[in-house]
Amino acid sequence: MNLAGGPLAIKLPWQQQQWQRVDDLFQHNKLPHALLLAGPAGVGKQRFALALAQYLMCESPQQGMACGQCRQCGFNLAGTHPDLKWVTPEEKSKHIKIDQVRALVESLGQTAQQAGYKICILLPAETMNINSANALLKSLEEPAANTLLLLLTDAPSQLLPTIRSRCQRIDFPLPSKQQSLDWLSTHVPAQTPVEALLHESANRPLAALALLENEGMERLQQWSQDYLALIAGQLSALSLAEKWLEYDLGEVLTWLSRKLSRVIAGHVAGAIDVDENWQQLTASVNPQSLFNLLDAVNELVDKLNRGANPNRQLALEALLLESCDKLRS
Ligand SMILES: [Zn+2]
Repeated sequence: MNLAGGPLAIKLPWQQQQWQRVDDLFQHNKLPHALLLAGPAGVGKQRFALALAQYLMCESPQQGMACGQCRQCGFNLAGTHPDLKWVTPEEKSKHIKIDQVRALVESLGQTAQQAGYKICILLPAETMNINSANALLKSLEEPAANTLLLLLTDAPSQLLPTIRSRCQRIDFPLPSKQQSLDWLSTHVPAQTPVEALLHESANRPLAALALLENEGMERLQQWSQDYLALIAGQLSALSLAEKWLEYDLGEVLTWLSRKLSRVIAGHVAGAIDVDENWQQLTASVNPQSLFNLLDAVNELVDKLNRGANPNRQLALEALLLESCDKLRS
């Protein structure tokens, strides 16, 4: 879950303001010791963090970017810079653990191996539990010289206020649709249905790219067909539940939640932003039923996210039966 190694990180066109701000601070020697990069998933916070780290570590940056030629850039291109650390939840864990934070605090307290900046990129910051967060506070309160902590979060409100208040926050809002389309078009093969891709990714260009790279579009289309078949009575809740349990259930349900949200937005705001089959499906449905159904989906997503362990087959079947109940005319 990190981008270390590979080509230099390129600045994303919709992040110019954020770059300007950080570079101004840097040029005036006012860069704080901790930045909180906050904004929705899939807009490029990781790329920003990596490009910033590469820039700050570079021996001869050019036009506000790392040179790609010097010794420090060499380490970064190889993904082996000893003074750049990534902290993310370990495999199979949903949380950044206290041991990881302690190791980080200790390493930030030591002298940089390359005599420049020591940088740590920690994400998703909201996955620190209270103990991990408290362990980090010490670093934030008594930062060592030439250290920079980059905390990345999709959910800043879930961070401890004491952490938030010790970081300078930079917001990363969604780019405009046009910016996303322009950028995406230059990063995917010709003939790629960029509008549909972006649509499925809720206008988050990096998420759209990931979706394409993971052959996600086919999967989403399949889920959509499955669900429509269920409502049309061509597929039973039992068989669909079995089918969907072969995927990451959190992922399927998050998709369904997004789809229903858009259908509701279509009903309420009259925005026609949903594909035709879904429009037809829900045209005669009472919006309240849609809200209730969306609540039920989100509730199950929440349960899964919290690590609660419901009987997945039964929970999913119940949700699908409720879907039939609410959506069949
Ligand atoms: Zn360089």
